Amino acid sequence: MSETREYLRNKEGSNISKIVVDRDLCISAVSCIAVSEATFALDDESKVIATDPNAADDETLMAAAESCPTKAILLFDNDGKQVFPV
Ligand code: SF4
Repeated sequence: MSETREYLRNKEGSNISKIVVDRDLCISAVSCIAVSEATFALDDESKVIATDPNAADDETLMAAAESCPTKAILLFDNDGKQVFPV
């Protein structure tokens, strides 16, 4: 089973309420960080973490998730439905 971490969001006006990162899929490509360094960083194992899940707007968050070559970032809407990747 892959190692995932969940980060809840409570950003006003946002329709994305949860970010999940799959640490096994993360290959430290840092493209997500290039898109939103306010949200993502690498930890001391060179795996992605969300340092501030509320930092980015939905559009930026989606662009960050889409930029990941291994689709290690999963996004869920306020109803708990997975909106990326779909
Ligand atoms: S873009 Fe994907 S592989 Fe690269 S650091 Fe972010 S989550 Fe990891």
